[in-house]
Amino acid sequence: MLARRAPYQLWLLLAAFALYGGLSFYALALARANQSPVALWLANGALIGWLVQKPLVRTWPLLITAFLGSLVARSCLGDPLLPALLIGPCNALETVIVSEAIRRRFPQLSSRTRFMNLARVGVVSAFIGSTLCALSMMSILHLWSHPDVLVSLNTLFRAHFVGMVIAGSTSLVMVTPSLRRIEPGRTWILVRDLLLMTAITVGVFGESRVPMAFLIYPPLLLLVFRHRFLGMVIGMAILALVISLATTLNIGPFNLWPGVTPAFRVVMAQVFIGVSCFVALPIALALSDQDRLRNRIHESELRYRMLADHSGDLVMRIRANGDRMYVSPSVKELLGWEVEDFQRPRPDLIHPDDRERITAEVMKLRALGGTTTVTYRLQHKDGHYLWIEAFARLVPSPENAGSMDIIYTGRNVTERVRIEQALVESQAQLRTITDNMPAVIARIDLSWHYTYVNRFVEQVSGRTPAQIIGKSVCQVHGNAVYDRLKHYLERAFAGESLLFEYEAMHCDKLSHFQAHYVPDRDAEGKVRGVYELTTEITHIKNVERELLRLAHQDSLTGLANRRYFNERITGILQQARQRDVPVLLALVDIDNFKTINDTYGHATGDIVLAEVGCCLQRLVREGEVVARIGGDEFVVLSDNIGNSKQAMAFTQSLWERLHMTVDAGGAQVSVKMSVGAVLCKDEITGDPVMKMADEALYMAKDAGRDTYRFVVHGMEGGHDNNSQERKIRRA
Ligand code: GH3
Ligand code: MG
Repeated sequence: MLARRAPYQLWLLLAAFALYGGLSFYALALARANQSPVALWLANGALIGWLVQKPLVRTWPLLITAFLGSLVARSCLGDPLLPALLIGPCNALETVIVSEAIRRRFPQLSSRTRFMNLARVGVVSAFIGSTLCALSMMSILHLWSHPDVLVSLNTLFRAHFVGMVIAGSTSLVMVTPSLRRIEPGRTWILVRDLLLMTAITVGVFGESRVPMAFLIYPPLLLLVFRHRFLGMVIGMAILALVISLATTLNIGPFNLWPGVTPAFRVVMAQVFIGVSCFVALPIALALSDQDRLRNRIHESELRYRMLADHSGDLVMRIRANGDRMYVSPSVKELLGWEVEDFQRPRPDLIHPDDRERITAEVMKLRALGGTTTVTYRLQHKDGHYLWIEAFARLVPSPENAGSMDIIYTGRNVTERVRIEQALVESQAQLRTITDNMPAVIARIDLSWHYTYVNRFVEQVSGRTPAQIIGKSVCQVHGNAVYDRLKHYLERAFAGESLLFEYEAMHCDKLSHFQAHYVPDRDAEGKVRGVYELTTEITHIKNVERELLRLAHQDSLTGLANRRYFNERITGILQQARQRDVPVLLALVDIDNFKTINDTYGHATGDIVLAEVGCCLQRLVREGEVVARIGGDEFVVLSDNIGNSKQAMAFTQSLWERLHMTVDAGGAQVSVKMSVGAVLCKDEITGDPVMKMADEALYMAKDAGRDTYRFVVHGMEGGHDNNSQERKIRRA
């Protein structure tokens, strides 16, 4: 059932039991057979490979199983149970010290592991573990026998230390797939080299006449050079097994010295195995580290080359003399040339206008180092030029120490350059248009500073764009105008398009401007500035005012005309009504004017009209309106008269003062008037008032002319023109 649930763990425990038990039995049996100390204790190191893979809380069953294996081995050899039970934890202590030290520093073993560091940690921890193990074990053994403590301690330490280094490194190699991997086709070479190693070791240590132990080094080093760690650990394992076996059986070169005790032979064997191991191990480590670095360089080169080969950009590595160490195949797609065409410098392909600039850039890069980016034209094989944006970096040459290479990456930016050129052209066109527009075109940013203004501003303000750009609206316009513009700018920045007019003093004269503010929005619709279009409209304003004046003025007399009078009368009536005051309207008509025309001529008639106009102008006061509303008909409108008495006095005075004699080219023309006046209150439109004044005038005419008639309408205690008519004749 256990076999089905967790077969791997079960097999692992069985393997640990067998391996640890077997190696313990081998070492102890050999020692017992020869009455010598244990030469090499490989059992502890054999577990290291498994123990480094997981924390101790998960691997303790393995240790227990191994301990049981050793108990079984010792009981087979007839050892007493108690010392065997006590020795087990000593071995476990050594194993745990080494495995935990390696696991904590190197949680994941792979071909990327720094083997030198691994070896340092392994050897130091093996030294500490073996020392502690030997000391504790010696103390236990001392309870049962009384051996030479120092000799026993030495032998025990060496057996454990060398055994841990050999078996520990072997088991680490075996559990690390990348280390135990044999390149395809090299398995048989490894087997052959191992057989050679075995044969030579057996040959050297199988006979006791000639001291030829050094002969094992060539095959051992061959294994290390050819098969790195794998060759070293298997070779060392074979070497250790054969030497310990032979020495314990009193065979081999260490028996050459007569009178040497078995214990001393074991010491010699241990030293020899240890020395062999410490000869092979550094070489294996150095070679493996070298392999690791070479692999990393190779991998990074592969990655780089793959990127470069498949990049659409042109990638080159250029030597100091201009030769290209690498040209990416994209050169064909980009420029139509083959890689071979680009192996040597091609200054002929650079556009003549760019050649000098590029040569200077390359020289600068070589002199100062670092990086540079240039845009220039390269000729396609078809003859046309492409715009290339090149990024170049100066790097140390991997091949020639002290020499520098250039890594070049070139990209086709023809389309981008075309677009940029078109943009520059269109910007220049736009600038020409805006600079020649008869209006100030400007842009104001969020901080209310001018970021652009066209050249027309010079004509309006006498300042150049350079004197305005960067200045605030307040600085440019001054506080007075700024106060007027502020409100509109705030609204424009709030997103409103505005058209408004404002006045400003310019060159000591008042100028009128019409400004158009349009918000400048970004892609998301957020206002990031305001465009301003300002036109000077002073001349338009003047024309407008002149037209208005002409439209409201009688050209002959200079008085207001009927149109102006009609526009004003309603307003005056309504204001008077609000103020609760009466309004006087007096119509003045020249008597027998036709006769004057007929007698003295039309020109004289005009002079008479102008004189009457002048006279009327003089008579009226501030706020009163006087107008010529017909051929020889004038009107006076006043709201400055408090009651009918004053009104009648005013009418009489008007009538009297208008009597005049006009000098028309020698002839004296006597001018007489008829006046019809009305004083009314609470009227809101001009028509009825005009009608009443007209009736009064007719009354004056009917009365024989050269007189006036005055009526009062709508006032308390006054005279109603409908019921009562008051006629006042000239005194
Ligand atoms: P009455 O006393 O009833 O007012 O008689 P009148 O002759 O003044 O007649 P009325 O007021 O009806 O005639 C006005 C004349 O004024 C008619 C026209 O020939 C003349 N007249 C109108 N406009 C002008 C002008 O601009 N210049 C001159 N010289 N005469 C004008
Ligand atoms: Mg008249």
